[in-house]
Amino acid sequence: MKTFNQVALVTGASRGIGASIAKRLARDGFAVVVNYAGSESAAREVITQITKAGGRAIAHQADVSDAASVQSMFDHVEATIGTVDVLVNNAGIMELKPLAKADTQHVDRQIDVNLKGTINALREAAVRLNNGGRVINFSTSVIGLKFENYGVYAATKAAVETLTAIMAKEMRGKEITVNAVAPGPTATELFLNGKSDELIDRMAKMNPLERLGIPDDIASVVSFLASTDGAWVNGQVLRANGGVI
Ligand code: NDP
Repeated sequence: MKTFNQVALVTGASRGIGASIAKRLARDGFAVVVNYAGSESAAREVITQITKAGGRAIAHQADVSDAASVQSMFDHVEATIGTVDVLVNNAGIMELKPLAKADTQHVDRQIDVNLKGTINALREAAVRLNNGGRVINFSTSVIGLKFENYGVYAATKAAVETLTAIMAKEMRGKEITVNAVAPGPTATELFLNGKSDELIDRMAKMNPLERLGIPDDIASVVSFLASTDGAWVNGQVLRANGGVI
């Protein structure tokens, strides 16, 4: 019988990459918190799959852009399954527009979820994470590729990379590592929505492995960073993208 004495909180784990990470970390032996914003039934399905496979998980609704909700999520997790060891700041949204058309809502939404949402969880983690813990943030390989229309989105993720390096230093003395994963195009709703088959195919072939990433490709990287094998990697951004950049 497995013992789940370490807790991993994965934000945005109802769908896409986050759902794969939650399932992978549960397989690795963590008790997992599946955070979601609106997709309650999808989050429950992730819990069912984890439980059926012999893992332990709870779902928790919280919009990461709301600081009070993030704070009460940490309170609830500590009261029910224990202090968090691994925080995966995966929740994110992407909207593509040239800067000439970047209205205030487009700017605010992405800053609120991707940047403020990450900060909201990081500041809780900074005071609450168990010594020896891990923080894994989410950036994007678009920071290297610098595609047109990705300006605001990429800027929020560039800020996340900066926060990653600074928080890694601020955790001195706690044996807590802070890293970011920067996926390339990965087959989830976030990437696929609104793109033609032709564009998806073209983007899939950009990397030398000539395919799109799948959520499990990214979950493997997170699993490594969360494991004891990943202990010496700190303050880094790991681009997981098949070699596109
Ligand atoms: P999806 O759109 O497939 O899933 C997004 C997840 O985030 C959902 O579980 C969603 O929950 C959750 N979420 C969205 N907004 C909030 C919020 N305000 N509070 C809490 N949860 C929220 O995205 P991906 O899986 O593709 O993306 C995961 C991460 O990877 C993101 O940070 C993204 O920027 C990054 N990334 C993705 C790439 C890709 O090609 N897919 C490439 C590079 C980076 P709900 O359904 O409940 O709203």
